[in-house]
Amino acid sequence: MTFRELEIAEPILKAICEKGYEKPTPIQEKGIPVALRGGDMLGIAQTGTGKTATFAIPILQHLLVERSTESRSEARGSKGRFVKKRAVKALILTPTRELAIQIGESITDYGKHTGIKQAIIFGGVKQGVQTDQLQAGVDILVATPGRLLDLIRQGYVNLSSITHFVLDEADRMLDMGFIADIRRLLPMLPVKRQTLFFSATMPKDIVNLSKSILSNPTRVEV
Ligand code: AMP
Repeated sequence: MTFRELEIAEPILKAICEKGYEKPTPIQEKGIPVALRGGDMLGIAQTGTGKTATFAIPILQHLLVERSTESRSEARGSKGRFVKKRAVKALILTPTRELAIQIGESITDYGKHTGIKQAIIFGGVKQGVQTDQLQAGVDILVATPGRLLDLIRQGYVNLSSITHFVLDEADRMLDMGFIADIRRLLPMLPVKRQTLFFSATMPKDIVNLSKSILSNPTRVEV
């Protein structure tokens, strides 16, 4: 199986090739087609299996397709329309700053020929750089839960346009005490969305959380 056979769009394929990946890992081979079809997914995989690309590549591809549809309909619209700020379309929640940075780097790599913009937000640092990025407009937001809630309370982030939501390392979120924050964030997300839920293990609390977040998910396990 090759990345091309997974029907990945050309600008992303080019970036994958430049990254030197020869073929998809098992989670990518199983998970990318599921995520590209647009349904919900429960992915059971550890760090190191290539799970980041399993959600990052389909999200980039969905946003790429949505943007080309939008620009076609805009092209048919009237002249002199005002320039709209980009609304955040994809939210990736992850438990730690290190993971947020790693995911952001992967998105930068896989998305470098797409023009899709992201911001990475996490606590423990001044928020100025993060709020500047948000105000400039981003398509994808990679965030840890606490700082995200802070920035929402201050009015810098609005989740009402999210079409793709990833909960990464759900079991670590639980261990680190983030489940209450996640439960606070969930009602802010549109009900009509794609959700990709990843966890290395599936203890009872995580099974329950996944049931409350996912709608008719496909289970992908490696
Ligand atoms: P992850 O599990 O997403 O943290 O990825 C673990 C590591 O594997 C990262 O350094 C990735 O850059 C790398 N990686 C992901 N997918 C592939 C692939 N298909 N071929 C080679 N390396 C990969």
